Amino acid sequence: MEDCIFCKIAAKESPAYVVYEDEHTIAFFDITMSAPGHTMVIPKVHAPNFLELPDAEVAPLFAAVKKVVELVVRKLGADGATVGINQGRASGQYVDHLHVHIIPRWKGDGGSAVQSVVNNKPKESLEEIKKKIVG
Ligand code: 5GP
Ligand code: ZN
Repeated sequence: MEDCIFCKIAAKESPAYVVYEDEHTIAFFDITMSAPGHTMVIPKVHAPNFLELPDAEVAPLFAAVKKVVELVVRKLGADGATVGINQGRASGQYVDHLHVHIIPRWKGDGGSAVQSVVNNKPKESLEEIKKKIVG
């Protein structure tokens, strides 16, 4: 994709701090790190978001995510990591090329768990919500 900044990084037409690369994926530092070593893993193919990622690219992407989590946690001496995708504008996605955030975490770093990004408690029962999904 011509105007996609992450396609340009994948093609080495734009600079980035690349920490991992294979045939299907490339991983580089987020330009505005939320924590030391905050990295994004992207598919080399242009997929605007997770739902538009071709099925054949899902396994290679998540294999790379696992490798990069292992790499940054071990090399930076982190205590863990938060791994996440912002899927769509409502969730905070601003770059329209799928990227998986890997944010190294340390005990006492002041951050919180991924399920605390929103507090929109359901008004329906769990049973009603399940019916909407599976019938
Ligand atoms: P989103 O909110 O779309 O999940 O996150 C996009 C992330 O990409 C942001 O955290 C932002 O800092 C990062 N970002 C945006 N443009 C660039 C860029 O040109 N290079 C790098 N390395 N990161 C970028
Ligand atoms: Zn792209």
